Amino acid sequence: MDVERQDVEVNVQRLANSLTDDNKALGQVTNSLAFWDDTYTFIEDNNEKYIEDNLYDEIFAEYRTNLQVFVNIKGEVVYSKAVDIAKMEDIAVPAGFSRYLGADSPLLAKNETDRVQYDGVILVDDRPMMVSSRGILTSRLEGPVHGTLICGRFIDDAKIKQLSDATKLHVTAYTPNNSALDKHVLQQLEAIQDGFPLAMNILNEDQVEAFTVIDDYEGKPALILKVDFARKIYAQGQSGLQTFTLLLGIADLVFVVVSLFLLSWTVLKPLTRLSSDVSHIRTSGNLADRVIVHGRDELAALGQSINQMMNGLQQSHTMVIESEARYRTLFENTHDLIQYLDAQGKFVYVNQAWHDATGYQPSDLATLSMEALLRPADVEVYRTLIQDLKNNKTPFAPELHLLTKQGREIIVTADFVVQMRDGKFYATVGLLHDITARIEAESRIQDQNRSLRETNLDLAEARRVAEENARLKSQFLSTMSHELRTPLNAVIGYSEIMLEGMSGEMNDEQTDNIKRIHINALHLLTLINDVLDLSKIEAGRLVVVPLPFLINDLMDEVMYQTNVLIGAKPIQMRYTLDPKLPREVLADYGRLKQIIINLLSNATKFTDRGEIRLDVAKVDTDKWSITVTDTGIGIPSHALEYIFEEFRQVDGSEQRRYGGTGLGLAIVKRLVLLMNGTIRVTSKVGEGSTFIVTLPLVVETVEVQS
Ligand code: ADP
Repeated sequence: MDVERQDVEVNVQRLANSLTDDNKALGQVTNSLAFWDDTYTFIEDNNEKYIEDNLYDEIFAEYRTNLQVFVNIKGEVVYSKAVDIAKMEDIAVPAGFSRYLGADSPLLAKNETDRVQYDGVILVDDRPMMVSSRGILTSRLEGPVHGTLICGRFIDDAKIKQLSDATKLHVTAYTPNNSALDKHVLQQLEAIQDGFPLAMNILNEDQVEAFTVIDDYEGKPALILKVDFARKIYAQGQSGLQTFTLLLGIADLVFVVVSLFLLSWTVLKPLTRLSSDVSHIRTSGNLADRVIVHGRDELAALGQSINQMMNGLQQSHTMVIESEARYRTLFENTHDLIQYLDAQGKFVYVNQAWHDATGYQPSDLATLSMEALLRPADVEVYRTLIQDLKNNKTPFAPELHLLTKQGREIIVTADFVVQMRDGKFYATVGLLHDITARIEAESRIQDQNRSLRETNLDLAEARRVAEENARLKSQFLSTMSHELRTPLNAVIGYSEIMLEGMSGEMNDEQTDNIKRIHINALHLLTLINDVLDLSKIEAGRLVVVPLPFLINDLMDEVMYQTNVLIGAKPIQMRYTLDPKLPREVLADYGRLKQIIINLLSNATKFTDRGEIRLDVAKVDTDKWSITVTDTGIGIPSHALEYIFEEFRQVDGSEQRRYGGTGLGLAIVKRLVLLMNGTIRVTSKVGEGSTFIVTLPLVVETVEVQS
């Protein structure tokens, strides 16, 4: 039905367009007259010539106008004429037209600038008329507007016929105000006025009629047109519909078959293959597998997406495995015990260190509980700890004692973490650090410390006793030496008197005996002096007193004494003094002499022939040395270490026969140290020995310290 209505609408529109085209043609005619210098003049002067030349009947026929009205700008009709162009005779200007010449008429120019231009249909004495009105301008379309030209053409039967022919439609025209208007037409008019300017009625299976209306400038109906249509489209539609239905059925069938075929080939088969590939991957669990992708359609794109997803899955799976391996390595290689207990306190997982430390095997875990693993005293500690952790209290790491499967006790510091899931206690993870060895070591160290403290106390006591002994010894020696020297000096003195014959003549035997007494007494005195010196030094009572003296004086004195000691021995005595040395130095003259004499007397004692040298030299700006060299029996290298100790002599009969106390070098060394010096010895058995004393070189005269 819509198709039929559309067809009607198109044709009615065509009819309306044809009428509009006619109106436009009338407009063109009006333009040619209104925009013309002659008309421009005529409207002002109303000259006859213009009327004669332009407003005769044939011109009206040629222009197909029935009416021409010239109105000046004041609204006065300058000239008007109506012609029946069918009969080619003048007729009266319709009286009803005057209502379009009023001051408010939209057909007229109101002032000199109003270039009025109207094309449309109006009713003149109940007859529809097509009119065009234009403001009158010069030929160059210039103003001021001098007036208005209105051209009119009646829409009469001839015009309707002409329209019917042109549009090939069966058209009937009605005048709206016609009192004889059919009631049916009036109804159509109302229907039209309500909406689209078309009313369509299907009269029967063969006929349909349509009405349309043309309004005037006030929107009032000026012309009603009716078009009758034979229902060709409907008839065609009826037969077409049947054919169409049949064809549609066939097409449907073909479409379904072809679609199913195509669907199967292009979608279902690849989809099934894709699905089987995916389920193969799922069942194989092999993330390296991929689905096979054919073509470039959406399914192929889906396959590629699945493969890309598999790539991603494979990558993250590899990362998970690597990460898991890393954590497992850490987990298994740590020396700490790691345990994972479920909510019921069952051991779910423990690491190798845990097995090693507790002695429990994986098979034991099913029946083992944490509380069974603890020594009884620690069970409550553990329970409180877990409860605290569940209550979010600050955890502490207690020391727990675990009992191994073998019954041994191990001590651990324990860190526990409670895992919650959805607010529920889920598992306990424990990290236990075995500190048994440390605790045992600590206890051993404590024992050792205790015994060390005891030993220290013993040592301190021993030292105190030793020091006391040393003090007593030194005191004893000093007292004894003093007490011994007095009678000894008497012995020496009296024996010397006797030897000098001051107490009368003695025979040879008596002289010899007194000599022996004298020599032994001297020896004893030396010994006592040495012992006294040593005890003084040890007791810290011996002080060196540096005083200035001439080196040569000291050396002359010791040389003299040495020569006495050499006596008849075939020994050459030499002495050198470094000219770089100052003549005068600052030192304890007596003690220095004691040192040199001691060394020189040893040299004479242990040298039978050859040479003894005394070399005094400057070693450095602030050091000088006294070197005693002999060509005597020498000292074996092993003895060099101990000859400076008290009472030590080189072992062996060879040295023993020279006598002596073994105190000389001990005193020398202590004296040298007291003087802030050093002593060293080099020696070769059978070739001789060299003793070098190095002392600080002090030349300025300093104040004597008491
Ligand atoms: P003493 O000479 O009274 O035994 P010393 O302390 O002076 O005591 O000497 C210790 C020992 O060192 C001597 O007994 C001797 O064996 C050895 N000794 C010291 N000086 C010499 C030397 N110049 N040549 C060889 N041996 C020496």
